Amino acid sequence: MIRMSAVDKHFGPLHVLRDITLEVPRGQVVVVLGPSGSGKSTLCRAINRLEPIDSGTIEIDGVPLPVEGRALAGLRSDVGMVFQQFNLFAHKTILDNVTLGPIKVRGLGKEAAREEALRLLDRVGIADQAAKYPAQLSGGQQQRVAIARALAMKPKVMLFDEPTSALDPEMVNEVLDVMTALADEGMTMLVVTHEMGFARRAAHRVLFMADGEVVEDASPDTFFSAPESDRAKDFLGKIL
Ligand code: ATP
Ligand code: MG
Repeated sequence: MIRMSAVDKHFGPLHVLRDITLEVPRGQVVVVLGPSGSGKSTLCRAINRLEPIDSGTIEIDGVPLPVEGRALAGLRSDVGMVFQQFNLFAHKTILDNVTLGPIKVRGLGKEAAREEALRLLDRVGIADQAAKYPAQLSGGQQQRVAIARALAMKPKVMLFDEPTSALDPEMVNEVLDVMTALADEGMTMLVVTHEMGFARRAAHRVLFMADGEVVEDASPDTFFSAPESDRAKDFLGKIL
């Protein structure tokens, strides 16, 4: 579970997260929508402490985010993150990309890490690519590796920041299918995406952000059929 309370964040004079209080219960899938610059990525990055916050608190499963050192490494492994750009290690094989974290951070033995990685790669449909390097894979395959790599850390929650935005259209669904399966298995997920089909199908809840604030917090049905704010109506008018 993710719990944020009164979280504020500035970049210089820019107030990018304004008094954000929200709870994502275990097993819930939340889709975050909002115009460019509204603070969606900053919200994700704050949750796994890639970005320090000015004030407020963030807890994962009741444990307040620690600030630095070993505790931070532990926290990062509790929060899996998948980015728009896959951020795989270019000079490591697919298998090594997935085993590296478990070996280094979780202290898993090489063989155990390998077995688990192959199981995860199988789950995302690319076990046969394990010996290749990232550049030899399609974008959709690379993103599925990135998901497997995040899952290898046994995260309590998964954050996705526009995971399909950099993909060719024909590869979007193979990634969304993996995410949908993960949602069905009960993973706690916060997903920034413009894929409205995914939002309708997989989300329990939609958050709409504008100017650093959560302006709407509703079920997908309610949000898409009866948005309340002008900002949301305007946003939906542009994308639907
Ligand atoms: P997009 O849909 O374009 O990805 P977003 O909702 O993810 O947008 P953020 O990336 O969270 O928005 O950015 C929120 C605001 O903070 C924007 O105005 C952005 O320019 C600014 N910002 C983000 N990162 C930094 C940074 N490192 N330094 C200064 N300003 C930043
Ligand atoms: Mg962003």
